[in-house]
Amino acid sequence: MEQAHLNFSNGDPFPLVGLGTWKAGKGEVRDAVLNALESGYRHIDCAPVYENEAEIGEAFEEAFRSGLVKREDLFVTSKLWCDHHYAEDVKKGLRRTLEDLRLEYLDLYLVHWPISLQRDTLFPEVGSDFIPPEDLPLSETWKGMEDVHNMHLCRHIGVSNVSPARLRSLVAVAEHPPEVNQVECHPFLAQTELLQTCAETGVILTAYSPLGTGKEKEVGAPDVSKCDVLSEVAKKYNTTPQQIALAWNIQRGVVVIPKSTDVTRQKQNLAAPSLKLSDKDMVKISELDQGHRFIGGEIWTENGSPYTAEWLWEGSEV
Ligand code: NAP
Repeated sequence: MEQAHLNFSNGDPFPLVGLGTWKAGKGEVRDAVLNALESGYRHIDCAPVYENEAEIGEAFEEAFRSGLVKREDLFVTSKLWCDHHYAEDVKKGLRRTLEDLRLEYLDLYLVHWPISLQRDTLFPEVGSDFIPPEDLPLSETWKGMEDVHNMHLCRHIGVSNVSPARLRSLVAVAEHPPEVNQVECHPFLAQTELLQTCAETGVILTAYSPLGTGKEKEVGAPDVSKCDVLSEVAKKYNTTPQQIALAWNIQRGVVVIPKSTDVTRQKQNLAAPSLKLSDKDMVKISELDQGHRFIGGEIWTENGSPYTAEWLWEGSEV
């Protein structure tokens, strides 16, 4: 089945809807991935920090063995964790992911955060767990990303959680510029400036948490399922507010990676590209933007960290 997709500059397809796997727990993620592949998903978004890549690897092996899908028809993304940011460590991080996922190459490898941690530190607890940006800049990590790309261990390389100004800086110094920037993006965080920067630099924007994430919402926080405007538009198209939120992003040329372990919701999400919203409804949804981040990145800026929220979300240093 042909998937709705964008194309990379070399012509490779990038499916517009992928399956997110964060918080797809042990014991459920294998079936979630197999069900998704059965329903027609061909794009799966992974990361070692989700601690479920080995189980996803079991699903891939089963899918290839049974003939459900061929490797060349699958698009797999994973991400370099923050404790592998020295250029010479990138290959080690990627090799571990490939081993867990039981793959010989990735379709897309991303630098998960522009934040560096000491080797073997999964999450920071004290200031000394961080490596300050001036000691290990993103441009250094990027050289390691270019190396693994040159070794054909991944077909495409990109970044995640990178601000518009930092993206411009990286594109300017890179030998092989980033092809994707994966960031939080939904109607309450439209990322208009970043989308414009991506268009100008030839980078594809991928929206993570496109449904506003599954995390418990703070009191007063916006909520896709309770938003009057999204519900009203959904009623008009005879669908759900969630499908509207995805269709809005897709219509702006943004790839979406909603997470669901439920077959029915997976199918609804996968069908989002077939929904065509009117220009008027697109504007109405865009007006919901309030710059609201569900993933504020507090773990990167607290406990004596050398990084600040301003550095992370607005800085330009690489
Ligand atoms: P999300 O996809 O915005 O939302 C997931 C939540 O929505 C889950 O609770 C899911 O529950 C529910 N859901 C899914 N489809 C639905 C539907 N059609 N109707 C109603 N509820 C629905 O959140 P996310 O997991 O934060 O983001 C998606 C993916 O982006 C992640 O899984 C991960 O792969 C990636 N990500 C990347 C980063 C990064 O730093 N690069 C950060 C966060 C996330 P059920 O499973 O029960 O359906």
